[in-house]
Amino acid sequence: MSINDAALPTADRAETLALPSWQAELRAAVRDPAELERLLELPAGALGLPAGTAFPLLVPRSLVARMRKGDPNDPLLRQVWPAAAELDPAEGFSGDPVREQGLAAYGLIQKYAGRALLIASGACPLHCRYCFRREFPYQAQLAARADWAPAIAALRGVADVKEAILSGGDPLSLSNRRLGDLLARLADTAITTVRIHTRFPIAIPERVDDGLLRVLRGTRLATVAVVHTNHANELDASVARATTAMRRALTALLNQSVLLKGVNDDAETLAALSERLFACGVLPYYLHLLDRVAGAAHFDVDEARGKVLVAALRARLPGYLVPRLVREIPGELSKTVLA
Ligand code: SF4
Repeated sequence: MSINDAALPTADRAETLALPSWQAELRAAVRDPAELERLLELPAGALGLPAGTAFPLLVPRSLVARMRKGDPNDPLLRQVWPAAAELDPAEGFSGDPVREQGLAAYGLIQKYAGRALLIASGACPLHCRYCFRREFPYQAQLAARADWAPAIAALRGVADVKEAILSGGDPLSLSNRRLGDLLARLADTAITTVRIHTRFPIAIPERVDDGLLRVLRGTRLATVAVVHTNHANELDASVARATTAMRRALTALLNQSVLLKGVNDDAETLAALSERLFACGVLPYYLHLLDRVAGAAHFDVDEARGKVLVAALRARLPGYLVPRLVREIPGELSKTVLA
């Protein structure tokens, strides 16, 4: 479960108006399933009884505005609706599918050579139902404690680490001041590159404000952002403005997607996503097979189908628009490339 509510101070309406627009947007996000049905002009109960889980509905209103009204199968809606199917037990699906819980000493996880991952925040701009960290114990394993000092000390202790990966949760849920402070501390180590895994520019594009761009431009480190998009409909004009501005401030801007049944599991949809990403200044990087997290079995697409889809993309798109099909296998020294 993410810790959005802990990340923002409680505020009355006046304080909310004084927040940066992205924080006000996050505070105003839809949390009530019945309200989401109303906003989408769906009859009450059209989506079935929502699953009551410790990972509640959370979706920003600007993302709701990109969903098709009256369509219970909208691909953006499917990504956020807590379907009753989440409660069905499924063999091989667990709360810690990539077996990383407990590995985050001081909020730092070192799985792959040359790179170390910091759990920079437990807060997210939305709750993606298939998230492999939906049961991650963020409160116990955050890198932000004591102004990052234990995490940075742990990072210095890792041999030959060149790249710090900021993950979560979503690291862009940190304020610009806190993110700038973290980058300054990272720049004072031997690393050369910082990578930011984020869904904010897609979910709440207002997050890409002047302050963030200044922070990204102001570090000596090479900067890579990997956004997370699963369907071309997520990428409207406001997102395109945000990603275009980010691309100018960064060394590289990439996208990762998850292959999700009923969202993007056909070649037409994936090709449209790659082309739209490119128009937004973003290169497709990874297409992940689903990590088998409990509650997400209804999204699973098997490996054989994934390979067929990537072969279809290769036949119709230039190579730089074809993402690598990958699976995370616990204990392996890198992601396993399947196609
Ligand atoms: S996929 Fe990313 S943005 Fe979505 S819930 Fe998980 S950590 Fe948060």
